[in-house]
Amino acid sequence: MAFWPNVVVATPAHSGVGSSLTYRSELSLTPGTLVRVPLGAREVLGVVWDCPPQPPEGLTDAQTRAVADVLVGLPPLNARWRQLVKFAAQYYQRGLGEVALAALPPQLRDLSTVQLARRLKKQEKARGTAGDTTPSPPASAPALSDEQQTALQTLDTAKAPVLLFGATGSGKTEVYLQATQQALEAHTDAQVLVMVPEINLTPQLEARFRERFEPLFGADALVCLHSGMTPAQRLAGWLAAHTGQARIVLGTRMAVLASLPGLRLIVVDEEHDPSYKSQEGARYSARDLAVYRAKVENEALSAQGGNARCQVVLGSATPSLETWHAADQGRYLRLSMPARIGGGALPRLRLVDMNHQPKGAVLAPPLVAAMAERIARGEQCMVLLNRRGYAPVLACHDCGWKSACPHCSAYRVFHKLDRTLRCHHCGFTERVPRACPDCGNLDIAPIGKGTEQLEEQLAGLLANVQRPDGSPARVARMDADSTRLKGSLEQQLATMHSGEVDVLVGTQMIAKGHDFRRITLVAGINADSGLFASDYRAPERLFALLMQAGGRAGRDAAFVNSQGSASEMWVQTWTPQHPLFDALRRHDFPAFAAQQLAERENAGMPPFGHQALLRADARSQQAAQAYLNAAAQAADGLPHRDEITLYPAVPLTIQRVANVERAQLLVEASSRGALQRFLSAWQPVLLECRALPQARGLIRFAVDVDPLSI
Ligand code: ADP
Ligand code: ZN
Ligand code: ZN
Repeated sequence: MAFWPNVVVATPAHSGVGSSLTYRSELSLTPGTLVRVPLGAREVLGVVWDCPPQPPEGLTDAQTRAVADVLVGLPPLNARWRQLVKFAAQYYQRGLGEVALAALPPQLRDLSTVQLARRLKKQEKARGTAGDTTPSPPASAPALSDEQQTALQTLDTAKAPVLLFGATGSGKTEVYLQATQQALEAHTDAQVLVMVPEINLTPQLEARFRERFEPLFGADALVCLHSGMTPAQRLAGWLAAHTGQARIVLGTRMAVLASLPGLRLIVVDEEHDPSYKSQEGARYSARDLAVYRAKVENEALSAQGGNARCQVVLGSATPSLETWHAADQGRYLRLSMPARIGGGALPRLRLVDMNHQPKGAVLAPPLVAAMAERIARGEQCMVLLNRRGYAPVLACHDCGWKSACPHCSAYRVFHKLDRTLRCHHCGFTERVPRACPDCGNLDIAPIGKGTEQLEEQLAGLLANVQRPDGSPARVARMDADSTRLKGSLEQQLATMHSGEVDVLVGTQMIAKGHDFRRITLVAGINADSGLFASDYRAPERLFALLMQAGGRAGRDAAFVNSQGSASEMWVQTWTPQHPLFDALRRHDFPAFAAQQLAERENAGMPPFGHQALLRADARSQQAAQAYLNAAAQAADGLPHRDEITLYPAVPLTIQRVANVERAQLLVEASSRGALQRFLSAWQPVLLECRALPQARGLIRFAVDVDPLSI
C-alpha cells in the first residue's frame, strides 16, 4: 500500500496557488502534517495538503520521490488554518507554499525530528509542573464603566465583526482584557489572539496582560509573536500556540497566521494602522485576514453545533475608512465609547498659523511659553515630528551641492550625534564631510529639521525653566534611532512614566497607544507636510496621527483637574483653513469620515472601488515601465478585462532605491470579484511577459492587492 501526498513547500512567488508537489509515502498522512521532503539536492520542510491513495494520472512510482521524514509528535495544522492560508495566497496572488511556509517559525525548518521531540517533551513537562502550583488570586480588574459593560456584553453576543470605536483613553484595552477573560473561562481549550501594529507597543500590553492573567493561568499561558524575537523564542512561542499550551498570543501582524487550534477571540488594536499591511512577500492585511479567520472559525464551530463563537474586534479611535464604511453598511457592528475613563476631557485644539510666526522658527514662541508653564507645574509635554535625524538634507550654499544618496533618488539625512549622512532608504552611511565635496566650501549647512535638532533646540529654549523642585527641565528623544538597542525602548518609556523626563520629542512612535499619565500638552510640528503628498489617504493618515497624538494628553482626569488647567493639543500648520482641522477641533471623527467617504465615493476610490498595483523593479526605469506596459497590453481578452481599468506605468515617488529602479501600474475595478478573477488570469501572463525583449533588465515584479499607497 502506498500513498501520494501532495506537499506544499516554500516555492518562490507566482508559482500558482495549486503549487504542491507529489511525493510517495508508505503511510497515509493526515492533511496538515509537517514533513521533510527532498527537493532537488536539498531536503525541505513541507506541509501535507492532501494524501490520495492513487498516484496522479500519468505519474509513475519511479517519478515520485519518497517523503524523507514525518514530524511525528507535532499535531497536524488543522483545516481552518489551511483554509486561511489558502485564502491569503489566492487573495494576495502568491504561492500557496510561500504563504504557508512563511507562517511557520524559521527554526522549524532546521530542527531534526529528534530535536523537535525533545523540545515538545520539555514543554509538556513544564506544563505539568505549572499545573501543580496553586494559582494565586487574580489581580483585581476594575469595575467597568457603563460604556465598557455594554461593549463587553455586545462582544459576547454579536454575530458580526465588532468595531470598537472608542476615544483615546476610553478604556478599550480594559475591554480587551475582560473579553479575553470571558473567552478563556468559557472553554478550557480557548485561545485569544491580540494584535498591535508595532513591536514597540507590545511591552506595555504584555505587562497588562501578564498582570491580569498570570495569576489565573500561569506564566506559560501567554506568549508573544513578533519579528523582534530570536528564532528560538519564535519557535517556542509558535509551538506553545500550536499545541494549545499558550492561551493568549500577543503579536504584530505576523501573528495572524499563527496556528491557534482553540481560537475564540481576535483583537486587532489600532486597526487603522498601516503597519497591519505587509509590504513585502505576500502583501497581506493582517486586519482583513483576522476578519476572514474569524469567519472560518465560526463556520467550523457552527457545523459542530453548540453556540460557541470566535469573535473578532477591531479597535480604534480613528478607524480606517474601510472599516467605518463596513459598519455604515451593517456588515460590522459599531460600538461607540466616546467618554474617557474618569470623565477626563479630550485635549483642546490650539492651531498655530505658521504664516504669522517669526521667519525660520521651528517652534512658535507661544508654544514654547505654554510648554514652559506646564513644566514649571510638574506636567509633561510631548512634541511630535515625523522625521528622525538632525536635518533631512545637508547643503552647500555656494555651489548647490546636496547630500544626495548615490544609490537612491533621495537625500541622505544628516545625523549630528554620530556625524553621519545616512540614507533612510538603502542604509548607505558616510561620515559627514568637513567641506563641500564639490567646491571645498567649509560652510555646509543643514536644511529642514528632524527630531535630533528639535531635541537640541528645545533643550536650549527651555534651559532656564525649572521643575517644581527647582531642578532643570529635561528633554528626551524617542525614535527609531534612540530605541535601536535592545531594552532601550523599555528604559526610555520608564523614564517618561517615572517623571524623570519633562518633554518627550519623537516620531509617530510616541503618538501611539502609550498610557502616559502626566502629559497635558501634545504638539504636532510640521503637521501638514503630509497633506501635500499626492496620496489620497494623506488626510485620513494625518487625522488619525493627530487624534492619536492628542490622545496621549490628559489621560488622567484627576491629575488634570488637580493642576487646574485643561490639556491641550497644539498643531503648527501652514494651512489652518483645511477642513480637517475643524473636525479635529471638535474631536469629530464621524463627521471627518463622512466627508472623506463622500469624496472617495465620487472618485470611485476605496472602499467604493477596488485596487491592485503591479510593481516592477528593474535595472533601468525604462525596463520597469516597458515590462508593466507590455503586461497591460497582454491582458487584452482576459476574463473581466472590460470591467477593470489599467493605467499607464509610472515611476514610484522615490523611483530609485539601492540602484534599483521602481515603477508601478494601477489596476482598478468596481467589484472585488472581478478584480480577483482578472488578477488570477493575469498571473501566468505576467510570468510570460518577463521573457519579452523590452523587459530585459527586469529584476522582479509583484502584485499588491488593496495597496495602501498608490
Ligand atoms: P484605551 O485603550 O481606550 O486608550 P485604556 O484601556 O488604556 O484606554 O484605559 C485608559 C486608562 O484608564 C488606563 O490607565 C486604564 O487602566 C484605566 N481604566 C480603564 N478602564 C477602567 C475602569 N473601568 N476603571 C478604572 N480605570 C480604568
Ligand atoms: Zn559646494
Ligand atoms: Zn540610498
